[in-house]
Amino acid sequence: MKKTIAVIRGDGIGPEIVEEAIGVLDAVALRFGHTFFYRETPMGGCAIDASGVPLPEESLKTCLAADSVLLGAVGGPKWDGVPPEIRPERGLLRLRGAMKLYANLRPARIFPQLFSACPLREDIAAKGIDFLMVRELIGGVYFGNHSTELRDGEQTATDVMSYSEHEIRRIARVAFRLARERRRRVTSVDKANVLDTSRLWRRIIEETAAEYPEVELRHMYVDNCSMQLIRDPSQFDVIVTENLFGDILSDEASQITGSIGMIPSASLGEGSRGLYEPIHGSAPDIAGQDKANPIGTILAAAMMLRHSFGLPAEADAVERAVERVLEAGYRCGDIARSGERPVGCRKMGRLIRKALTSED
Ligand code: NAD
Repeated sequence: MKKTIAVIRGDGIGPEIVEEAIGVLDAVALRFGHTFFYRETPMGGCAIDASGVPLPEESLKTCLAADSVLLGAVGGPKWDGVPPEIRPERGLLRLRGAMKLYANLRPARIFPQLFSACPLREDIAAKGIDFLMVRELIGGVYFGNHSTELRDGEQTATDVMSYSEHEIRRIARVAFRLARERRRRVTSVDKANVLDTSRLWRRIIEETAAEYPEVELRHMYVDNCSMQLIRDPSQFDVIVTENLFGDILSDEASQITGSIGMIPSASLGEGSRGLYEPIHGSAPDIAGQDKANPIGTILAAAMMLRHSFGLPAEADAVERAVERVLEAGYRCGDIARSGERPVGCRKMGRLIRKALTSED
């Protein structure tokens, strides 16, 4: 298989972690007989420095022409003072919009080797955590009208939350399709006791569920879900929810699995092309010091193999290689326990490549 990957290293630790993910993709290509072409392209603070905008047209074109995009992270204190319309994050939002990426997938999984990094009680962690959060990404209150006006002598702000049937149906289908390949359970999260958008959400989710009779559906209010994630996360398989609820719940989900440096994410649209990145930011406090954990980015590359390139065996091999390295006791600084000597970003990448190529 031949695939072209647009590569955005970005800022802070971005270049270091992406380097290790590319090394792992190269090892996959060698072992399984594929060819990956990389098209490096700037976005974020480095693009502002070079051309005055966070997402130059040329970068956008490169991403739209590629089979998928691999991203490190963008932003950092150096660009905190730039005008809001050219902030590094604006580049990312524009890229997501231009690629029409409406589904954000975040797996929340605890590696048995990392139980001690889980902030939940040991007996809860031991039941296992392995669910997938599917968040609607380009609708809801973040994309409704925003306004602040003077009303009756005081400032009043309004953000409009709106969802249409097709926006709900397409994200529902993503969730049900993915559940079919997992444990076949979908939990749809809403606030249907209060919000009209949630009542429509619930109706369309139920309609869509009829297309997937093999998948079990249940509904849960968002406040209850935030509690259940801590009380017993083992009950979840696929969680589907709207943009704002998903933003908050997915951060909660990432915390209960241990470190921020371990978690990948995928953003998908209509076709097979996606945007793959770790969930963390550019970690300027440790940039350039070989301290970053590259596993989140490496697992994002594995998601690209699975979801965009249809290569599940290759994705499984990468995930197994990560597990074997953790099993052997290697940890980066963010997941090392006190007394353990952490390995650096480069060494972690090397160990995972070695585990991948040395597997029987
Ligand atoms: P952050 O995720 O960059 O860092 C939070 C903490 O986690 C830091 O202590 C950092 O050292 C640590 N950390 C993060 N990733 C790590 C890794 N791979 N290995 C080890 N430790 C890791 O969040 P922040 O400090 O709030 O943000 C820094 C910059 O990143 C900001 O400019 C922010 O806007 C940007 N940001 C970008 C994205 C993105 O590109 N998608 C996402 C979030 C934040």
